[in-house]
Amino acid sequence: MNTMHIHRRQFLGAGAMLAAASLAGCAGMSMGSSIGRVVVVGGGYGGATTARYLKLWGGNVDVTLVERNASFVSCPISNLVLGGYKQMADITHGYGSLKAAGVNLIQGEVVAIDAAGKTVRLADGRVLPYDRLVLSPGIDFLADQIGGLPAALDSGRIVHAWKAGPQTVALRKQIEAMADGGVFAMFIPKAPYRCPPGPYERACVVASYLKAAKPKSKVLVLDGNPEIVSKKGLFEKAFKDLYGGMLEYRPNAELKELSGNVAKLEFEDVKADVLNVIPPQRAADLARSAGLVNMNNRWVGVNWLTMEATAAAGIHVLGDATFPAPLMPKSGHMANQHAKVAAAAIIELLKGQPVNAAPVVMNTCYSFVSGRDAMHVASVHQYDAAEKTFKTVPGSGGVSAAASQIEGRYALSWADNVWADSLAL
Ligand SMILES: Cc1cc2nc3c(=O)[nH]c(=O)nc-3n(C[C@H](O)[C@H](O)[C@H](O)COP(=O)(O)OP(=O)(O)OC[C@H]3O[C@@H](n4cnc5c(N)ncnc54)[C@H](O)[C@@H]3O)c2cc1C
Repeated sequence: MNTMHIHRRQFLGAGAMLAAASLAGCAGMSMGSSIGRVVVVGGGYGGATTARYLKLWGGNVDVTLVERNASFVSCPISNLVLGGYKQMADITHGYGSLKAAGVNLIQGEVVAIDAAGKTVRLADGRVLPYDRLVLSPGIDFLADQIGGLPAALDSGRIVHAWKAGPQTVALRKQIEAMADGGVFAMFIPKAPYRCPPGPYERACVVASYLKAAKPKSKVLVLDGNPEIVSKKGLFEKAFKDLYGGMLEYRPNAELKELSGNVAKLEFEDVKADVLNVIPPQRAADLARSAGLVNMNNRWVGVNWLTMEATAAAGIHVLGDATFPAPLMPKSGHMANQHAKVAAAAIIELLKGQPVNAAPVVMNTCYSFVSGRDAMHVASVHQYDAAEKTFKTVPGSGGVSAAASQIEGRYALSWADNVWADSLAL
């Protein structure tokens, strides 16, 4: 058994393995008439995985995946692109393998959902009928909560790079163009936001690049939260041991307004040469326009056994757009796991059979603290029938004792495996 096999098996997760086993009888059922039409919107971590597993486990489900972008660009590992340790090509994949797996692919923008008529409409006017709809549209931003930010983002002067793609390239160019002795400042919004450890990883990886290439520079981390949100002790250690003297961390530093490259906080102004603002976040526009946002005016509440939106039966919502279960992170790994719960449930629902009543999902988030060394946090979440939500399994998961080179290698393997699993590579 080679390492790739071990990682892929581990990856499936216990609940997904059970679901796979219970559905194994239909895995080869590609003959016969379709048991139903499923339209999946969003070809990121959640949507791509759902499309793949509907074919893998359902066989004769008619699956159409609609994605606005031509290719999949991964947020995980994109911080390494900012540090110059990886290239965009390393985090970009095509959708060809999903197509080869039997998924109908449409590059386009879904602009409207008719829940009663069970259709979605694309920007080019096409209308797609469905029996079950899956949305994994990710996040959009509450940029107007920070004065001057919408205009700064529109002009391209400030980028968030919190969706990997052109903004990742733009931020890397800004960092490369910064003079030695310059200030790179980044702002972290209050939780919940996509990828809790991601901003601190970014601070470390950018500092790692600057320490080697422009050692007189400074990294200023302005955190809207009262303390580091994830892997606190490990990031504090990295900030001090690896970047002491050049990296400054400020908690409770809520960004109120932008004026040029000056960030106005409550009690002071901060001037930066490169300013990276990660705006507060909410479920993506499509979830909002479809009327599915019913939690804190930001997120989509879901039934965790089927991933159906509580606001609309028959519409399954996954990934970052959902209001999370307790201690459940907004991560690519978790979106991949939501997808497996949804795919298994949809197949059973299409067949008129009961869904798995006890799903289990898991998450591992690696974070790089340099171009080479990483650390992880892991958790296992079991459905609790009494509370109708996922709860972490006591004693499961854990956190690295320290960042290390070997975990850096595991982190890159994790990425290769999740990409292979989600995109059928
Ligand atoms: C810097 C950074 C580092 C990260 N590191 C990690 C990590 O190490 N590990 C980890 O597990 N997670 C990590 N994450 C988090 C991870 O990227 C997200 O949690 C994950 O992408 C969520 O998957 P999703 O399917 O909900 O959304 P996405 O992956 O964003 O997919 C949404 C897709 O929907 C498409 N879409 C949206 N609306 C429409 C529409 N109307 N029509 C057509 N298409 C549409 C979008 O184009 C997009 O492709 C990181 C995030 C960032 C920003």
